[in-house]
Amino acid sequence: MNEHYARIIEAIGEDPQRHGLRDTPERAAKAMEYLTRGYRQSVEEVVNGALFPSDCSEMVLVKDIELYSLCEHHLLPFIGKAHVAYIPDGKVLGLSKVARIVDMYARRLQIQEQLTVQIAETLRQVTGAAGVGVIIEAKHMCMMMRGVEKQNSVMKTSAMLGAFRSNQATRNEFLSLIR
Ligand SMILES: [Zn+2]
Repeated sequence: MNEHYARIIEAIGEDPQRHGLRDTPERAAKAMEYLTRGYRQSVEEVVNGALFPSDCSEMVLVKDIELYSLCEHHLLPFIGKAHVAYIPDGKVLGLSKVARIVDMYARRLQIQEQLTVQIAETLRQVTGAAGVGVIIEAKHMCMMMRGVEKQNSVMKTSAMLGAFRSNQATRNEFLSLIR
């Protein structure tokens, strides 16, 4: 990757040998590796057995999970928050694991719609929940820094599975809790 970043720096008309840029290809490669570390993680590894039996059948909500991802169309960041809720059916997941599942998928090349669905489906598979709701609100640098330059637009996506899809009251409870 270092080599490729050096070529990109040349291609934009800069000198990769000049002092300030000399170590940039290596730093950029390391940064990119970090930003895409989700490819080197698996659900099993992230969950790491943190599933616990529970009689709880009330909604579990983790809101305002910080989210940093890269759009797969421009390789530019999109940054925002994820709100994740589920209704347990015999098993609950350690709370930090919800955030780690979000992070695992966010640290890949993504589109926001797909990221939202992947988080919801994984949580459902892992916990066997009666329902899962995921909402992501994010600002996209590819819209803010280039193209239409819409500085303040926030993109909102949602994925509702099981009870969150079939039951209006459940969905409303989720939406009012994150408001
Ligand atoms: Zn983009």
